[in-house]
Amino acid sequence: MSDFPYAERFPVNRTLPDHGRPREEILAELHAMATEEDAVWETGKCSGTMYCGDHDHYRFLTESFGLFAHVNALQRDMCPSATKFEGEIIAMALDLMHADAVEDGTPAGMVTSGGTGSILHAVLAYREHAAEHRGIDRPNFVKPETGHPAFDKACHLLGVELRTVPVDPATTVVDPAAVAALVDVDTIAIMGSAGNYGYGTIDPIAELGRVALDHGTGLHVDGCLGGFILPFGEELGYDLPPFDFRVPGVTSISADTHKYGYAFKGTSTLLFRDKAYRNAQYFQLAGWSGGKYMSPGIDGSRSGGLLAATWASMVSHGRDGYLHHAREIFETADRMKAAVRSHPELRILGNPTFCFSFTSDAFDIYHVNDALRERGWRLNGQQYPNAIHLAVTRPQTQPGVVEAWTADLADAVEHARRQHAAGVEAASSAIYGGVAGGMTDEVEEFIVAIMSDLLDAQQSVPPA
Ligand SMILES: *Cc1c(COP(=O)(O)O)cnc(C)c1O
Repeated sequence: MSDFPYAERFPVNRTLPDHGRPREEILAELHAMATEEDAVWETGKCSGTMYCGDHDHYRFLTESFGLFAHVNALQRDMCPSATKFEGEIIAMALDLMHADAVEDGTPAGMVTSGGTGSILHAVLAYREHAAEHRGIDRPNFVKPETGHPAFDKACHLLGVELRTVPVDPATTVVDPAAVAALVDVDTIAIMGSAGNYGYGTIDPIAELGRVALDHGTGLHVDGCLGGFILPFGEELGYDLPPFDFRVPGVTSISADTHKYGYAFKGTSTLLFRDKAYRNAQYFQLAGWSGGKYMSPGIDGSRSGGLLAATWASMVSHGRDGYLHHAREIFETADRMKAAVRSHPELRILGNPTFCFSFTSDAFDIYHVNDALRERGWRLNGQQYPNAIHLAVTRPQTQPGVVEAWTADLADAVEHARRQHAAGVEAASSAIYGGVAGGMTDEVEEFIVAIMSDLLDAQQSVPPA
């Protein structure tokens, strides 16, 4: 598919139009694009990304958003509602993560712009807290390889050395002893995932908590993906290791409202065992000629609409609403995994629940991905080893999707057997697959070109 399918159909703006266009015309154009793009995931064949998929809920969020969309959450004297929304989002998320069990701190939190935002603020908080309380000026942070790239990005931006612990692909979870081996006096924090993005598995958080306590360092639990669904999986009786504030040594948790919290993209929660961590990253410039400036996080102006819509999503679901959706998602994932296990050539990696990844020892799994793509599926590709993953979301719980998965997967396995026997290379491995020998210059150039294509449309689209 072209990155610019609209270039021929709608006006391309290379400059600001001289005259404003009528709203009806603009809305018609937007409706056309949105309707076509929604059709891609409404089938239920798309992994992750559309966690909710319920247009009724989206309309409700849009109305909630619209009432405060134009409000700047930085100017609280004008919008005490933002203080209510943000405070209650944090309180509800802390409750979900069992902050009530904390006896050695005063739990606190903040709302950020997404998972990456929460991780960035967590690393900043640890860096500042460690500088102040432990005198650390050459900070390092320890991450299992499976930890999200947002940790690499945060360390890169904040001047923190990142130490990465390899993870055995057979278990997909980190060995706490291997983490401990990389910790030293300059380690500001370690992390574990609940669950990780690639395999959906949960690191041994209780053991990591002991490592953190033994070394007097922080432990961040990345619950960006699992934070708003795993607590309900536990309530449903699924066998899930503990990962929240009940675990001694856990000092912060990120949990994305914009994933299984079913809010709009653009919000996440970052929760701390003790407010001293959060407060360490506050910024203020009291002596500025423009006035006394302060911001509780990295962002400046923020839309009050996102806070309102996130709050509305949480209180409209309540515990029973989230539990209901979690039950359907866990059951759907169980049935989808059963379909994978029915093929002896396929192997699920680790012991995942609602998000799972599988590979093959018999053929390149990307052959399976190729055939699934032709049947409208959009799974995520992984490498080392090549694997494909599916984060089960509400669109997959619609009637008929598991049946389509079962049938399409069987066809895809048959396709993979034939391609493998014929010695053909899989098409999708060119995009996702492992590159022999690691990152080459060509791979780096290719990735830069993809990112620029996203931004430089005015150069790439055909001339008008
Ligand atoms: C999605 C995700 C993130 C990053 O979140 P963004 O919202 O994309 O910034 C971090 N960790 C895990 C485990 C995730 O699934």
